[in-house]
Amino acid sequence: MSPARADLAAELERLRAARLYRAPRLLEGPQGPRPRIDGRELLAFCSNDYLGLANHPRVIAAFQRGAETYGVGSGASHLITGHSAAHRALEEALAEFTGRPRALLFATGYLANLGVISALAGRGDWICEDRLNHASLLDGALLSRARLRRYAHGDPRALARRLAEGGVRLVATDGVFSMDGDLAPLPELAALARNADAWLLVDDAHGLGVLGAEGRGSLAHCGLGPEEVPILVGTLGKALGTAGAFVAGSEELIETLIQRARGYIFTTAPPPALAVATRESLGIARRESWRRERLRALIRRFRAGAAELGLPLMDSATPIQPLIAGTVEQALAWSRDLEAQGILVSAIRPPTVPEGASRLRITFSAAHGEQDVDRLLEALGRLRPGVTKTTGP
Ligand SMILES: *Cc1c(COP(=O)(O)O)cnc(C)c1O
Repeated sequence: MSPARADLAAELERLRAARLYRAPRLLEGPQGPRPRIDGRELLAFCSNDYLGLANHPRVIAAFQRGAETYGVGSGASHLITGHSAAHRALEEALAEFTGRPRALLFATGYLANLGVISALAGRGDWICEDRLNHASLLDGALLSRARLRRYAHGDPRALARRLAEGGVRLVATDGVFSMDGDLAPLPELAALARNADAWLLVDDAHGLGVLGAEGRGSLAHCGLGPEEVPILVGTLGKALGTAGAFVAGSEELIETLIQRARGYIFTTAPPPALAVATRESLGIARRESWRRERLRALIRRFRAGAAELGLPLMDSATPIQPLIAGTVEQALAWSRDLEAQGILVSAIRPPTVPEGASRLRITFSAAHGEQDVDRLLEALGRLRPGVTKTTGP
């Protein structure tokens, strides 16, 4: 329940007492494995800049060129005068990259999911979603006014039972789950959705750039195309190192979104320079497969070392390697212990993850080196296993 106007202070106090209070950390320079944060250089394992492109000199140069050509602001929404040649070129590059007829840019992944779901489902429909889907997919269902059924995480049989009840218009899932790092059972989900004549939407925010040949993502990794998965959502702020998102699919799907997706229609188009920068980073991500190989080697090294230490790893083959702490207290204590050793891994707490599943969400980047992984393992080996009592947020 939301606090009444007079109760905001008490509600904030309650969050503090439950150790669920959140505040952003202050970065004083670019994204990278060693950011300066709150005045101190830390070795960080919590960004989604998986390929190390957020601060790449060629992406920066493209951004600058883009600003010189197009200025900074786009000035209007896409459908008024905000849609530039740079946006169109990026949409064409993304369509080609994903092997689909068309792609449509959105300002953020959050907006893309709100836009596409509420454009395709409405009052009287049902939407099925994995229990651990990203918040934007759940919020999109709420906004659509369709009714939402959530199925057990990664469980095609649970989805089948839901579908059998009828009326399902759309099934949505993360490709790679953002907090667990595991892959959705995409071939099974695709077969079920097709049989039920429902749309399948895969949000590949954490697979794109990382999995599959040239980083084409979870679908390529599973050998699935537009026939099996008609709606692909990708984000640009993670492995591609810039910002924004896209939906890729058929000509008719994209034209429908242009007419109906409010998250596309009623918002200012992102800066054209950002599209120029993203086209550059997309090229680097595709060509430089050593970045994906480096990532895989770092993940292998980490998992082998963590197993030796007896750490409770989850079953993830992606750069997202969560360490389940359980209680909020324990996750915060671990995070603070690591920070005392110069390492930044943020604690993830409810409501981002379920009650009792608080964790350290460790992520790797191609910008990390083997010695960074070793330093992390050493620090993890020194963590105290029991709950550490601490004070202050
Ligand atoms: C990050 C993320 C989003 C949101 O994308 P933004 O561009 O950051 O708004 C959507 N879906 C998933 C699975 C994500 O991890």
